[in-house]
Amino acid sequence: MKKHARAVVIGGGVVGVSTLYHLAKKGWDDSVLIERMELTSGSTWHAAGLLPLFNLSYSVGQIHKYSVKFYHELQEETGMDVGFSVVSNIRMAQTQDRWDEYMYYAGIAETIGIKVKILTPDQVKAIWPLCNTDGVIGAIQHEDDGYIQPAALTQALAKGARNRGATIYRNTCVTAIEQDDDGLWHVMTDKGEITAEHVISCTGNFARKTGEMVGINVPVIPVQHQFIVTEPHPDIVARQKQGLPEMGVLRDADSAWYMREENGGLILGPYEPGAPCCYVDGPSSESEYELFQEDLERIEPHIESAFVRVPAFGEVGIKKVYNGAIAYSPDGNPIIGPAPGLKNFWLSEGHSFGITAAGGAGWQIAEWIVEGEPTIDMMGVDPRRYGPYATKGYLIEKNEEAYRNVFTVHFPEEERGAARGLKTTPSYSRQKALGGVFGSVYGWERANWFAPSENYEISAEDSVVPDVIAGHNHSDPVDGRIKERYRFTRSNAFEHIGNEIKNVTENVGLLDMSAFAKIEVSGPGARDWLESLFANKIPKNRGRIALCHMLTKFGGVRAEFTVYEWKPGSFYLVSAGAFEAHDHDYLFKALPGDGSVILQPITQKYGVLVLAGPKSRDLLQKLTYTDLSNGNFKWLSGREINVGAATAHALRVNFVGELGFELHHPIETQNAIYDMVMAAGEEFGIKPFGIRAMSSMSIEKSYRLIPRELSIEYNALESGLDRFVHVDKGEFPGRDAVIKAKKDGLKWNFVTMQVDGVENYDPRGSEAIYDDNGNLVGRATNGTYGWRIGKTLALGMVKPEFSTEGQKLQIKMLGKLFKAKVIGESPFDPQNERLRG
Ligand SMILES: Cc1cc2nc3c(=O)[nH]c(=O)nc-3n(C[C@H](O)[C@H](O)[C@H](O)COP(=O)(O)OP(=O)(O)OC[C@H]3O[C@@H](n4cnc5c(N)ncnc54)[C@H](O)[C@@H]3O)c2cc1C
Repeated sequence: MKKHARAVVIGGGVVGVSTLYHLAKKGWDDSVLIERMELTSGSTWHAAGLLPLFNLSYSVGQIHKYSVKFYHELQEETGMDVGFSVVSNIRMAQTQDRWDEYMYYAGIAETIGIKVKILTPDQVKAIWPLCNTDGVIGAIQHEDDGYIQPAALTQALAKGARNRGATIYRNTCVTAIEQDDDGLWHVMTDKGEITAEHVISCTGNFARKTGEMVGINVPVIPVQHQFIVTEPHPDIVARQKQGLPEMGVLRDADSAWYMREENGGLILGPYEPGAPCCYVDGPSSESEYELFQEDLERIEPHIESAFVRVPAFGEVGIKKVYNGAIAYSPDGNPIIGPAPGLKNFWLSEGHSFGITAAGGAGWQIAEWIVEGEPTIDMMGVDPRRYGPYATKGYLIEKNEEAYRNVFTVHFPEEERGAARGLKTTPSYSRQKALGGVFGSVYGWERANWFAPSENYEISAEDSVVPDVIAGHNHSDPVDGRIKERYRFTRSNAFEHIGNEIKNVTENVGLLDMSAFAKIEVSGPGARDWLESLFANKIPKNRGRIALCHMLTKFGGVRAEFTVYEWKPGSFYLVSAGAFEAHDHDYLFKALPGDGSVILQPITQKYGVLVLAGPKSRDLLQKLTYTDLSNGNFKWLSGREINVGAATAHALRVNFVGELGFELHHPIETQNAIYDMVMAAGEEFGIKPFGIRAMSSMSIEKSYRLIPRELSIEYNALESGLDRFVHVDKGEFPGRDAVIKAKKDGLKWNFVTMQVDGVENYDPRGSEAIYDDNGNLVGRATNGTYGWRIGKTLALGMVKPEFSTEGQKLQIKMLGKLFKAKVIGESPFDPQNERLRG
């Protein structure tokens, strides 16, 4: 066994071998893969081999697209048959919600270059004559996808990797992993030790065991998945004899199953409620090609629905049932990227569609390791989207939930119920009593909107429970309050969110933003270090606030922080709650080794209550001795003030474009402040508002967000951050790339668009944008109905020649084209008069 390798990949499933292949392809030909048994002896061997391109995540969609193209190239390159049957993939719809989901997806697909064909029920029947299309309203088809032989694919990847110089050690188990003071990894195996600069964990169902070796909690626990293989059916055998094409992969999404031909018979794979997590403490050390006892009772409703949809399925006997482990994460997307807290340790774990994802995952992680950055936005799969709250109990509940929801309609505003209420702020019960409808971000409960308890009606349409297995969604009231009936169009929460906005605009609103990630940066080197990290200048005067971006070396936006020097030489940094682990990991990994800078995460110590609206100053003035007048307390500044008997750092910033103050307070004083503010606010008409009202108002101000219009895929100048990027201030990561982009010209421009002719839906981001001639010229990144300006708005990235004000464009929403035009930034209060007021 070698003594040293540039990179050691652990795990010889399809994901690990693809990682090795792509590292070798990038020139790291001295990389090594270690597999405890034989290649493919984990989940890979029993996969059905389907390659579904369909995915609503921008990151995962691009990964899948790469794989489907790459697997053909791999076959060419290695001369090994990977068994890729390009038989197409049809997803049927039985409800309008499902159809809207497909139309929404078609926009995402178009912007990332995936072809989607729309089929009528008759066209489905023509391709799949054994399918009974009763109740089907239409379908989408990916003509490029189909299924592959997972073991053959893995062997071809292994051959490709070896041909490029990489080494694979089979029957060798990694038993311990340590990092020395120089950052070199020591990988101990039962056959000896190997040192490496980088280690990549691709250990499938063993992910948590591997994580334990290096002291991290990998948010992955597998769930059991079954599929049934039938005996041959005479009709299918007859079709084969006649030389007719295979019917392709069929998905009855509303019945939550997939089906395809297999050796003259059929495969049926359901995603059922009740499928349990497995290998909760990891598989045994003997585990190899392992299957579980089948449980057909659990999938009985799905089997029965398959009898109706494809009667031939019920006419033949069952040949074999596979019940195997699929690695899962709480949102069902894989965990790909740097491990939190560890330098040069990487994860490519939690792959629930690993045969499909392996190509793209290997490609991107190799880019990330070798070049220092991936080439596509990986926020949707980044390991650091989870934090310490994602413990074993949490993962069991959430991963089973993710599994049973594989086929439910994925509504953009949907909030799922498992493992909720874990992290609540002190004022949670008060907000709940006021009608708060909570969502979950990074484990925190946050009020998305406030549901009224009276004066509402449920339309007949909203209360219908569709007769399908997956995708129930209706709006019976909860605790006497209106419940949201999720939709891709405007939902029954729309007008209530509008009322919240109206109150913020006319009076004053209160929002709990305590989920913000917060960290204190102190020590003698703090200021210079921050200056060297960020593209913006750190304010010279204490109390001034600056929005600062951390860029990648290619000039893309990695993270965004509000920076405020709250004590002399000590800085308070606030960033999005969802990105706490991500943002703080980058800060910790960038720390100088000389101890001159100290980082202290303080998210849990401080709460944030946002007061916004024209009457916010009058209200707060009633509670504080500090003079809040404009002359004494300017926009974009902060100071410590008393709020009654309590104390808070008041920051004159907000995300809604109104006069306002963020009150950052010791968390234990939150309820005291909440009650004082609500009582003092009564005369000013104070009402709580939620995240959805805030988001809508922020779009009227053209405020950018990670990972939408701010992303590693766009240069900071393309995202329109010119005023936050100071190339003349000295070195910072991404500076050279920004200078170069300015010289060479930008590929994209950030724009705000007005969309006309809209009736009951608004853009959400990911819609395709065209010029007048129907050419694709960009993508929407966000959108809303702007209540204060009375117009539908979209934010987006378009080619520069289409970004001037007045440019006419078209935007496709749920399959229909609408006229749009580029308008000036911040259509609501462009001069910021209300913020400065
Ligand atoms: C019934 C079923 C059907 C499926 N159908 C599909 C499908 O149609 N399409 C699709 O895309 N996906 C499908 N999947 C999912 C797919 O099988 C997995 O996502 C994929 O195989 C994951 O590959 P992997 O390389 O991450 O993990 P694995 O294949 O499990 O490989 C991990 C490897 O790591 C090795 N290892 C672990 N620890 C160590 C150690 N300490 N030292 C050395 N080696 C170690 C293991 O021995 C194992 O070989 C299906 C899964 C199941 C169960």
